[in-house]
Amino acid sequence: MKKKMLLSLLFALGMLFGAAQNISSNSQSSPNIIIILTDDMGYADVGFNGCLDIPTPNIDKIASQGVKFTNAYVSYAVCGPSRAGLITGRYQDRFGFSRNPLFAPNDPNMGLPLTEETLAEALKKANYKSVVLGKWHLGAHESLRPLNRGFDDFFGFLSGGHEYFPENWTLQNEYEVKAQFDPYRTKLLRNNIRVEEEAYLTDALSREAVNYIEKYKNQPFFMYLAYNAPHAPLQATEKYLNRFDNIQDPKRKTYAAMVSAVDDGVGIILDKLEALNLSENTIVFFLSDNGGPEKTNGSDNGLLRGGKGDVFEGGIRIPFAMKWPKKISGGLVFDSPIISLDIFSTVIVQTQKIIQTKNKLDGVNLIPYLTGDNNEKPHELLFWRKFDQENYAIRNSSGDKIIGLKHGVKLFNLNENIGEDDTLIQNNTESLNELKNQYEKWNSQMITPVFLGLGYDKEYGEKHPNRFKKQNQN
Ligand code: CA
Repeated sequence: MKKKMLLSLLFALGMLFGAAQNISSNSQSSPNIIIILTDDMGYADVGFNGCLDIPTPNIDKIASQGVKFTNAYVSYAVCGPSRAGLITGRYQDRFGFSRNPLFAPNDPNMGLPLTEETLAEALKKANYKSVVLGKWHLGAHESLRPLNRGFDDFFGFLSGGHEYFPENWTLQNEYEVKAQFDPYRTKLLRNNIRVEEEAYLTDALSREAVNYIEKYKNQPFFMYLAYNAPHAPLQATEKYLNRFDNIQDPKRKTYAAMVSAVDDGVGIILDKLEALNLSENTIVFFLSDNGGPEKTNGSDNGLLRGGKGDVFEGGIRIPFAMKWPKKISGGLVFDSPIISLDIFSTVIVQTQKIIQTKNKLDGVNLIPYLTGDNNEKPHELLFWRKFDQENYAIRNSSGDKIIGLKHGVKLFNLNENIGEDDTLIQNNTESLNELKNQYEKWNSQMITPVFLGLGYDKEYGEKHPNRFKKQNQN
């Protein structure tokens, strides 16, 4: 009898152990996703793209333990539309997000339309928990805020930028805002609650990232860490400034300090993943939301022409690395063109539960191209449109790119002319016309902007005199 009981006990223990193992292996099979997005960082401002004056050893680890993409793009040359593309996996012009949104907490149409599905919403279908940290910029109206767009947690701010020192955060909430750039001084939000914070903003975001990894460690999670660094205003603490006695230019020096703070943050995040044994099955992406505005923040786009706001390479080609040790071997360099829209498409097919997305995606799953299972190129064509400026660009996978500006169209070959030097313009009218036709075809699927953006501050204010007033106080 005793023996039988012992056997049943052992059997039950075995079942429990087996079950526990199953739970553990199930939870391990859907990878965690971390997107680390910087703001207005130049193509040449990371070690893995050859930066010499700003060491970024932690960001570089993502490339050395995974892959660096040399021809990686975002879908727009400024913050808001680029983020709308990233978080939906779709060209933002499909849904009219063609401008940087104005800060308008009473306007349900000023931001990412509710017809769009965010990556957090898609991943929820596979039981992910999601958190966004830092800059939201996809709408300040209640219905457009992170907790209504698939995220379980939010720590950060709603506007397109923010002051970095907590002593400058003097506004209690969005209804104390009087003008477009006042939200830079609002107190931070944790979910729907304003918080008292004492840390330098970049450090606060890194600390929260580590804490949320701890919070979510037992289930698949998605973290969208949207640092506003190194976007203006240029503000850094002595701790980081002291690292750059080598840089004389005060603008570049502060910029370097801000990048260094981000790099420290990436370091503690990667360490946390290691400590929790999560590194192997966590996909980490690192990229900037657009090219560097070199004159404004002291960034450096290297050989690329132009910067933030341009459809030249300097505006849209960005530093981009990813790692996923479980599937991707380290030290890869991938030279074919890819785009930030690929993140969504890559991620949603790696989950254990199959995700049906709400809308048609524009990206591709990059993994087969990185493992060598597919030797084709991920994209034959990539497109950019700046609606208000009537600028556009399209490039193909062999390096031909046309730039359409108000006064004409130019053809460059990026393999021969990465700097898009006007003296090296191509005269191949066949290729030019072919790309132009392809652009027109794509453009015909896009729609006109659905909200007035940053360039329309005055016009919007006149139409909405109670823009910043709490609605029931009108
Ligand atoms: Ca930006």
